[in-house]
Amino acid sequence: MPELPPIEVLPRDLSAWEAGNAGTPFVHRFDSGVAGPTALVVGLTHGNEFCGAETLHWALSQGLRPRKGTLVLAFANVAAYRSFDAAQPLDSRFVDRDMNRVWRNDWLENERTVEAARARELRPFVDAADFVLDIHSTTFDVRPFFVGARVPRARALAERIGYPRTILLEDGVFEGRTLIEYAPFAAKDGDKAALVVECGAHFLARSVDVAKATFLDFLACLDMLDPAFVEAHRPAVASAPAGIYDVSVVHVAQSDAPHFVQPFVGFEEVAEGTLIARDGDLEIRAPYPRCTVLFPKAIPAKGRELVTLGRRVD
Ligand SMILES: [Zn+2]
Repeated sequence: MPELPPIEVLPRDLSAWEAGNAGTPFVHRFDSGVAGPTALVVGLTHGNEFCGAETLHWALSQGLRPRKGTLVLAFANVAAYRSFDAAQPLDSRFVDRDMNRVWRNDWLENERTVEAARARELRPFVDAADFVLDIHSTTFDVRPFFVGARVPRARALAERIGYPRTILLEDGVFEGRTLIEYAPFAAKDGDKAALVVECGAHFLARSVDVAKATFLDFLACLDMLDPAFVEAHRPAVASAPAGIYDVSVVHVAQSDAPHFVQPFVGFEEVAEGTLIARDGDLEIRAPYPRCTVLFPKAIPAKGRELVTLGRRVD
């Protein structure tokens, strides 16, 4: 396994934000009173992805308010966040199941897990949102990137925000549905758009800078913040490479000892036919030219997603 980046950022006490102001724990809603979009920013969809929590904590501590429309800030999975153990830093991703796979109406309504229950609490805010930014981070230290549903308005929103400049487009490849694939955001028709931003490695300080910069750019592109405020507070972030990737394969490990044949960290482009991993007798090979390895798992396990593959298209 490639070495994991160091732990520079640790969980903080978020209890000041627990009551919220919208009737749901850890949800804060600010209505400017001026006509405009409803923007929802989510942190901690995954409990060990601290940059979203840091960004929302910063925004709330600043008393940040939209100058038009309504801004909703939601810490999604604080239960998982609070379970963080630096000795097992990848284990606090969720409590019962991946919260970013439950956004299917039937699962949302019927499933009895910590994450589905929390998603049900958040659902009214998700349903009310015109634009969503869901802040994440990655296991390995790869470039920041957006992920959106495979609809033109998702890519257009990412390009309008402008940073990061790598965009992954996906729809229906994971088991279950991600928040960005939730019906209003992934439907062929409609105006609502949702993006994940992956800000870099989970525990690095610079991932927090990327998250804050993207958060501010997102709200600036919706004209919800004064440009002078954005300029004064936007962290300087390194430029990152551009690229558009169509995500088409998610391999869930079937065997007891799935493993990669090289120490992949993500964004390695491999030739068609290249052996990427072995899962029991199964060989996982690049199914097409310009195949790119995405989200390789640091600790492969049976029944868990092992690797995602995409094709670079632009
Ligand atoms: Zn995540």
